[in-house]
Amino acid sequence: MIIVIIGAQWGDEGKGKVVDLLADRFDIVARYQGGHNAGHSVYVGERSFVLRLLPSGIIHPDKVCVLGNGMVIDPKAFFEEVDQITEQGVVVSPDRLKVSTRAHLIMPYHRALDHTSEERLGNEKIGTTLRGIGPAYEDKAGRRGIRVSDALSPDLLKLRVERNLEEANRIIVLYGNPPLRADEIIEEISPLIERLRPFVAETSHFLAGARKEKRRILLEGAQATLLDVDHGTYPYVTSSNPTAGGASVGAGIPPHHITGVLGIVRTYATRVGEGPFPTEMLDAEEPIAHLIRERGNEYGSVTKRPRRCGWFDAVATRYAAELNGFDSIALTKLDVLDELYEVKVCTGYELDGRVSDTFPAVSQDLRQLRPVYRTLPGWKSSTLGTTRFDELPPNARAYVEFLSDTVGVEIGLISTGPERDQTIIMEGSTMEGWFAG
Ligand code: GDP
Repeated sequence: MIIVIIGAQWGDEGKGKVVDLLADRFDIVARYQGGHNAGHSVYVGERSFVLRLLPSGIIHPDKVCVLGNGMVIDPKAFFEEVDQITEQGVVVSPDRLKVSTRAHLIMPYHRALDHTSEERLGNEKIGTTLRGIGPAYEDKAGRRGIRVSDALSPDLLKLRVERNLEEANRIIVLYGNPPLRADEIIEEISPLIERLRPFVAETSHFLAGARKEKRRILLEGAQATLLDVDHGTYPYVTSSNPTAGGASVGAGIPPHHITGVLGIVRTYATRVGEGPFPTEMLDAEEPIAHLIRERGNEYGSVTKRPRRCGWFDAVATRYAAELNGFDSIALTKLDVLDELYEVKVCTGYELDGRVSDTFPAVSQDLRQLRPVYRTLPGWKSSTLGTTRFDELPPNARAYVEFLSDTVGVEIGLISTGPERDQTIIMEGSTMEGWFAG
């Protein structure tokens, strides 16, 4: 069984908790795109882990984790994270952590280029995490990237760094920053590559073998659907494809071997950084945004940036469901809305006097449209820790059912708090089948 799990909105949907819950039922957890900008918070009892690059499965001692070919990996960040969780008592060894030979490396000049590129864009900046991820993907598409397998050969690494740096330094200097030196980069990176060597593997071959042996594989998307470079709110997107198709390419798994796709959807929306956000709570609704931000701890887990908060966007979520082919949805953070008198759901976009239920390709349209809302009554009572759907307040049940109906996908799981056991599994759902199987 191979299941893909993807955020349906702009990220931070609480995927960390759901993946962690599901990881119990899987043998292998693999990531297929992105880099160390993912920022999952995972809580296990009293312990909390922040994972940026490693799949959440790494916390479970009997799981194998894979960093697939579609990823970009900063070796320094990789070992910082490995060392951090090792200190927290997690055993990380090459037999349970495998890095693709075909993944691309983030080099120090990619970080410098990320800063330069954002400075150059000024007001139009993308709001990247400045970790060099975008420039590493640019080099990949430009066919000058350095793959993990290249770096294992010291001569090739030196050649590539020297050649690439010539180009990168032109841009770095142009924007008034000091040029980087190839020898210093090689000196910094070489010991890290040697340390990485035992973790390097032919990961798609490994995954194919695991599937044949009937091992259960979870493919964990980072960022989310609306940040997909093709399908998201371009140009305010990430540089890779978090959507389900990306899982096939980025893990090297044939599409028809994927058994199912689970969407992670939050009961409201947030967005970090720049970019259009149709249902953002602004002005008069700022106190509601504030309440949600505090109750839902809506601050970047890596950057600590306060997240922009907004109402549930059924148009965007339906678009995500269609693109990814969600078989089931895990709905998170129901408890965060407990104190609201009423909850709004955006069911259409009004632009130039016309109401549409399709998600536009043009970022400018997304900025100008007026969301059409359906207002539902709040439930004004605590749902925190509820484990059965029939024990939810009637208005909370009605809200959940309304979301499922407007998005057109079953809700298989409802999260009612940050802890693992604060969860409702919907009886008879596809999701329940995955849990049981
Ligand atoms: P992720 O990257 O998608 O996992 O999102 P974050 O790292 O931003 O995690 C979301 C935060 O919400 C973490 O602090 C979680 O513990 C917390 N969380 C997840 N699910 C729930 C929930 O159902 N209720 C509440 N109150 N918090 C939750």
